[in-house]
Amino acid sequence: MTTEAVPETVTAESSTDEDSPRTYRPAVSAISDSALADLLPDELRYRRDQIRRGVFGGDAQGFDQITPLPRRLRERLDATLAFSSISPARVRIADDGTRAFLFQAADGTIFETVQLPSERGSATTVCISSQAGCAMACTFCATGTLGLTRNLSMAEIVDQFLHVRRESPGSAAPDRVVFMGMGEPLANTANVRDAVEALVDPGRGGLGARHVTVSTVGLPAGIEELTRWPWQIGLAISLHAASDDIRATLVPLAKHVNLATLMAASVAYQRATRRRVSYEYTMLRDVNDQVAQARDLARLVDGQTCHVNLIPFNPFPGSVYEAPAAGTTRRFRDELLRRGVAATIRRTRGREIAGACGQLRADGAVWRRRSQSMATPLHAS
Ligand code: SF4
Repeated sequence: MTTEAVPETVTAESSTDEDSPRTYRPAVSAISDSALADLLPDELRYRRDQIRRGVFGGDAQGFDQITPLPRRLRERLDATLAFSSISPARVRIADDGTRAFLFQAADGTIFETVQLPSERGSATTVCISSQAGCAMACTFCATGTLGLTRNLSMAEIVDQFLHVRRESPGSAAPDRVVFMGMGEPLANTANVRDAVEALVDPGRGGLGARHVTVSTVGLPAGIEELTRWPWQIGLAISLHAASDDIRATLVPLAKHVNLATLMAASVAYQRATRRRVSYEYTMLRDVNDQVAQARDLARLVDGQTCHVNLIPFNPFPGSVYEAPAAGTTRRFRDELLRRGVAATIRRTRGREIAGACGQLRADGAVWRRRSQSMATPLHAS
């Protein structure tokens, strides 16, 4: 979807009344400046700027709270546009400050977003979803057990960040976005690209491009497309194993994309962008956590401009995996460091609220029931 056009009003069949399709107002976050001008041809430029500032810059929760605008304009906006494409259905807060948001889209689809506190106690990071569910079916990931419901729109992606920012006053405001929530971002490239453009636009998201990271399970065509994006965003690749055999048991895509192909795409990205790639490596006891496997990994990435993030496995109900002992993970990291590979162990956050890496599944059975029924749309006009 391009942001140069006014998105058409979406219609969807209500599960409770098939004779009267519901209509949804387009979300203001998906509307470009020129499209807003088309929508409001009789309003002066400074009014549109006030709308933009109210939507992207303040803590207003609706058009009615953008008080610099006259009442008649607020009512007009409310009748024409949705202030947000998503609504919060639930928030859970962990002892360490991690917050997991369950959001509901206008058609009833639900998905999760996680806000991660900074280790320094200042600005936070938002881990956003690009899809509801995921088709990639990685065996160590709770989201992978759900299957894919659908791609999220550009507005649904951007509104996750905007909602969290409005809820985070002062120093807790997020200044980083990682596409590491539900879904494979490079399977929804057009919407993710538009969302990144909005997030790094000084007049909208206002994030530094280096504070946005796209994470992929390893789609070579998508990685190649990233080299053509004009922003200096980060790339993380989910690796999880240094051998094709083991990787294929963890990431079904690896049966079709071997490590040689993936590494070629990654190296081409590093050369084209001169940027460092992060490799994500979920540590699984007795699967990929041996020192010999650290050596294999070091050989695989030898000569690359990269960093390895070791992620102790986060359990979820029904999973067959366990996390290694902390000492095993440290020995793995130390072997990488000894061989000249930059490596760190990611601190686990939000595990008790199922908000840690690989745990997002929005309450399993409830999530499935709500998403498949597409019931209870909240933004129907
Ligand atoms: S790890 Fe990422 S790509 Fe794999 S199933 Fe989970 S969300 Fe999808």
